[in-house]
Amino acid sequence: MNMMSRLLQTLMLCTALGALAAGPDSVAKSDRSLWPDKLDSSKGFDRASRAEILVFADALNQLARQDDLKAELHLKSVDAASVAKISERLSATLLSNYREASTACDGKEILCDKLASAADLARSGAALDTQLPAPYQPWLANARAFHRLYAMELLRLAALFPKVSSEIDVFSPAEKTGFELADRHFLFTFDDGPTAKGGSTDALLDTLKQNQIHAMFYMLGDHLKPRSDADAALKQRYDGQCVALHGWEHQSHQKWADWQNSVLNTQKLAQQVFGEAYRPYFRPPYGQRRPDSAAFFAQNQLQVALWNIDSQDWNAKISDVEAAQRVMSLMLLWRRGVILFHDIHPKANRAVPWLVKSLAGSGVSWDRCQQY
Ligand SMILES: [Zn+2]
Repeated sequence: MNMMSRLLQTLMLCTALGALAAGPDSVAKSDRSLWPDKLDSSKGFDRASRAEILVFADALNQLARQDDLKAELHLKSVDAASVAKISERLSATLLSNYREASTACDGKEILCDKLASAADLARSGAALDTQLPAPYQPWLANARAFHRLYAMELLRLAALFPKVSSEIDVFSPAEKTGFELADRHFLFTFDDGPTAKGGSTDALLDTLKQNQIHAMFYMLGDHLKPRSDADAALKQRYDGQCVALHGWEHQSHQKWADWQNSVLNTQKLAQQVFGEAYRPYFRPPYGQRRPDSAAFFAQNQLQVALWNIDSQDWNAKISDVEAAQRVMSLMLLWRRGVILFHDIHPKANRAVPWLVKSLAGSGVSWDRCQQY
């Protein structure tokens, strides 16, 4: 390939990824201060969880039934089979989550109707304007807007899959998403680091230690190399945390010809620098990996590790507090999973302690990365 066409190709790739990374026009934000109850008990968590599930079920149902999903999602084409498959899977998850969230229901609890199907959930969610007591109504208006935008985020990824792969679906059962965790179990993960010494990664490592959180860090080789060369104590700083791979450069591992070397070179370096803290997981940038890559990862003792709770903290349109509140609403919705933040941005440093404090007593368990 000559220089000009290489340059053109790079430009086109950057534009495509840029458009994808930019995502929908607005980020789904949730205002937790509108929820009138406390989340400091298992019952309180479940009640809030049922509320989020019902509103999302209605939003998903409305969106999936749209005649012109293409126009709604501002896409040139939509993979209808993928959208149908993902919608069905999400609906099944909602139903089983609602059952888990209803186990402690008694006569006095609100939002405890026996609902037997995803269609029942959607109907019940649509009826909340008249069914829900007045103190919850301000929350409801905000939740409707949040879940509509969030459902659009997910269906947009579904509409593009597998042409553009992402965290919305797996290519093999070996790929992990976070949905395989047990009820109320969550794992914090941080991508794109490490930053230079004294940067946001180091501040976050201190915060995690103070909060006794053991998280997974998906590192870029080209960020780790200069840092490990300059900082002999780097391994010690990550004491109690786990280190895994995000590739050498932050680019799509679905399109990049050299993606295998990107993974292997980062693996070699991470093993060298971190020894036992290294964990054999690869998280593709943007979630983009090839459909036929399962054999390569198996051969190299690696598993693809995606996420199911996206903080969107990289997005300039969302603040640290907003990212934390968004994560909380998604934790209530999915009830388990892998939470994505970025340690190259400072927002997690405030969001994580807020989540830990706000959910104390709720029965939520912050999983140790060593057990993942
Ligand atoms: Zn990344």
